[in-house]
Amino acid sequence: MFLNSRVVALVLAVVVAAVTTAFLSLVPEVSDQALLVAALLSFAATYLLLYITFEFLVFKEIGEIYKVLNKMRKKDFSFIDAGDSSNTNNPLKRINREIYNYGVNRNKEIEDLRRLEVFRREFLADVSHELKTPVFAAQGFVHTLLDGAVDDKKVRMKFLKRAAKSLDNLDSLIHDLLTLSQIEIGEIKMHLEHFDIVRTAHEVIDQLENKVEKKGLEIGLDNEYPDPIFVHADAERIYRVLINLISNAIKYTHKGRIGLGFEVKGNEVRVFVRDTGVGIPTEDLDRIFERFFRVDKSRSKDSGGTGLGLAIVKHILEAHDTHVGVVSTVNKGSVFSFKLPIGQSTEEMEEEANQELELLEVKDA
Ligand code: ADP
Repeated sequence: MFLNSRVVALVLAVVVAAVTTAFLSLVPEVSDQALLVAALLSFAATYLLLYITFEFLVFKEIGEIYKVLNKMRKKDFSFIDAGDSSNTNNPLKRINREIYNYGVNRNKEIEDLRRLEVFRREFLADVSHELKTPVFAAQGFVHTLLDGAVDDKKVRMKFLKRAAKSLDNLDSLIHDLLTLSQIEIGEIKMHLEHFDIVRTAHEVIDQLENKVEKKGLEIGLDNEYPDPIFVHADAERIYRVLINLISNAIKYTHKGRIGLGFEVKGNEVRVFVRDTGVGIPTEDLDRIFERFFRVDKSRSKDSGGTGLGLAIVKHILEAHDTHVGVVSTVNKGSVFSFKLPIGQSTEEMEEEANQELELLEVKDA
């Protein structure tokens, strides 16, 4: 049946006019003329009232709902303002907005799932590729040895060393992958404590000094820091962050100096790792924190990089509610930096605890 606001209003207006006229006709002494006028008036008033109500409050909104559904079917979410459905009194308008908001959210979820799926596929391909490289290399050396090279003492040592290096790379890669996935799924909890970051920096420098010397580079703190600088963070993880950043600085610097610096501002300490290395092109700055992204693929693999060092740095710092920044100029060098909340020394903590105790005692008294 052809049902629109006009037809519905017309039918109901006829019914109302008929009922009104029938009731009026029961009253004695009402002329036919008056009955006609009453019928016409009640018809016109009812028709107008119902037509306006249906057209503007019901059918128009139902039409809009259909429009919204149609557009959503075509994945067009751009046409309506996704306002808060609670700020209108019209229930149909509210339903319409609810449908629209629901559609937008579902669409976003689907897009997110699609992106995740692409990411998962790419990650799997990357991991397989990265694992394949050292395994193939070690396999090649071992088979060459088995095929006879083992009899030549010089070749034997060379190939064994190369196979060992490939297996070491494989070990680092698996270790980094495990760390990354544990941080991501929240398996590794951050153990926040107050520690001296200057001391940590010295420990990192001591650990990497050999590598620095081998490359003929220099390493040290930018300034003298005679007093400890306490930060509130996970000491083990921040140690790892510094190891990764400084290892990179060593890997990608051929001459010059690697420096570590600290800047205390308000309640925060900014930690800097500077190098005078090859630098990073501006267009790659955003991507270096992605897993397996390398500016120069061959260069990084030659120096034993897993391609996961900066991804781990990013995740650890995000778990501390902070992030890593980088400024770099090609052929001049790079500066990586991050902020940590300032911490307290053991004495400061003891003093604070004593003060709290005194306050409690005063209250009790
Ligand atoms: P990799 O194991 O390849 O070093 P990272 O995640 O640590 O992996 O770094 C990703 C990429 O970022 C590196 O391959 C390199 O191209 C670039 N990079 C990182 N640190 C530096 C640096 N200090 N100087 C120049 N390039 C860097």
